[in-house]
Amino acid sequence: MGAGSDAARPGRNLVFLGPPGSGKGTQAEILGKKLGVPAISTGEMLREAVAGGTELGKKVEGIMNSGALVDDDTMAEVVRERLERPDSRRGFVLDGYPRTLPQAETLAGILAGEGHALDAVVLIDAPEEELVDRALARRRADDKAEVVRERLRVYRQKTEPLVGYYEGLGLLRRVDGLGSIDAVSSRILGAIE
Ligand code: AMP
Repeated sequence: MGAGSDAARPGRNLVFLGPPGSGKGTQAEILGKKLGVPAISTGEMLREAVAGGTELGKKVEGIMNSGALVDDDTMAEVVRERLERPDSRRGFVLDGYPRTLPQAETLAGILAGEGHALDAVVLIDAPEEELVDRALARRRADDKAEVVRERLRVYRQKTEPLVGYYEGLGLLRRVDGLGSIDAVSSRILGAIE
């Protein structure tokens, strides 16, 4: 064990999993602050790229507006670059990545390359009706009703298989996403302890 190598990421390599509207973005921010590690939202990174008119932004804008997923190779680049930044060295709360099985394998590969691994995957869940209501209440430009439904469909089809995948690895922590922000935060803290 090299000096500092294991101390670099003390059990704080976390992934938040959950359907759109589950509140995982808010909860990832709260937990990141509590643990002193960055909450990394790939959706937010892509929205910034779109707003900034970058090459990446131009590539992903239409895809995001349709509710579909950006391709795995593009996302691998985005997340690899982000995890290499110094502020991620002590850990991270990933929000919105991975979203497919190949992405989960990419993430494992990035971490393994540094001699690390995920510590836990927090699944925040809520009933479908609640999810649609909440997502619509957020009213972002890309949160129109059809797009919200498409996102949920894509989540069920492409992302939900990750639940079983991480369960099999013994990493999954299920948290009920209903209730106040504080109530859900406490459940999350309890689940990762
Ligand atoms: P989010 O804010 O996490 O809901 O992400 C908004 C949109 O960005 C998604 O609907 C996708 O189009 C795209 N996106 C964000 N993260 C990913 C990812 N890991 N894989 C593919 N597309 C993503």
